[in-house]
Amino acid sequence: MTKLLILLTLLLPSCVLAEAPVPLRAEKVAAHSYVIQGLPGAASRQNQGFMSNAGFVVTKDGVVVFDTLGTPALAQRMIDAIRKVTRQPIRRVIVSHWHADHYYGLQAFKELGAEIWAHEAAKVNLGSDAAADRLAQRRELLAPWVNADFRVVPADLWLSGDADFKLGGLHFKLRHVGPAHSAEDVVMFVVEDGVMFSGDLIFKGRVPFVGDADSKAWLAALDRLLELKPQIMVPGHGPPSKTPAADLALTRDYLIDLRQQMGQAVADFLPFDEAFARADWSRWQGMPAYHEAHRRNAYNTYLLMERESLAK
Ligand SMILES: [Zn+2]
Repeated sequence: MTKLLILLTLLLPSCVLAEAPVPLRAEKVAAHSYVIQGLPGAASRQNQGFMSNAGFVVTKDGVVVFDTLGTPALAQRMIDAIRKVTRQPIRRVIVSHWHADHYYGLQAFKELGAEIWAHEAAKVNLGSDAAADRLAQRRELLAPWVNADFRVVPADLWLSGDADFKLGGLHFKLRHVGPAHSAEDVVMFVVEDGVMFSGDLIFKGRVPFVGDADSKAWLAALDRLLELKPQIMVPGHGPPSKTPAADLALTRDYLIDLRQQMGQAVADFLPFDEAFARADWSRWQGMPAYHEAHRRNAYNTYLLMERESLAK
């Protein structure tokens, strides 16, 4: 019996190692701005839900956080990463949009007393069936990182449009650019750093997640981002970019391609399955998240193009 216990104790570390935390670190991209870059692809047990980006800005009067990663456990590790950079209090969290991989870490920041800001269009998600379904799916996929302790934290301040603020000598411009990737999309521009935190308006290095987005408005929102003339763009997924206009092209080209191919299918009265099989998707096929996201993106775009053609 004792031997069995010793054996179990010896085996335990390897079991724990199997669930070892994924690597997570903060990268400095400008004088005050940092990025925590998620792993490529869709949320999975392997990446523990760490597949979206978050960021933070260190001012002389506290830290401003942009997005909180996909689980409370990841958010706690993000807080540890912030603590390695500064002891300043974490004052404010801006939520780009209400998708699980960007806001599921909120409770860890709320416990620290941070004030949470989000656009009011996100309110419909609170208590919705879709949000409950997503939570059930995440609890199953990402246990124990999303578990029974998970709770939805509403914003302390619901924004109704653009909002600018100053903190610790830095100027922040919040722009409501939804409906684009979502109705509530907010981007944050840090003026002194020239850094744009774009949320999921921009995807890099993977097929974008389009969901039920209004891709026409999304394309217009991409132009609004460029008006602020960012020098560095931090996308919602993928590495930061020092050439925002060029890197924005992937998201833009993908949306345009979906709209053209599915728009043509609708004009030709082709059923979706046939149109999807006939279309040329070769440009996107080798990209991460293609299998998880592309067919659904195309289907939703097909429905959108139907609605747009009926509205003409
Ligand atoms: Zn999203």
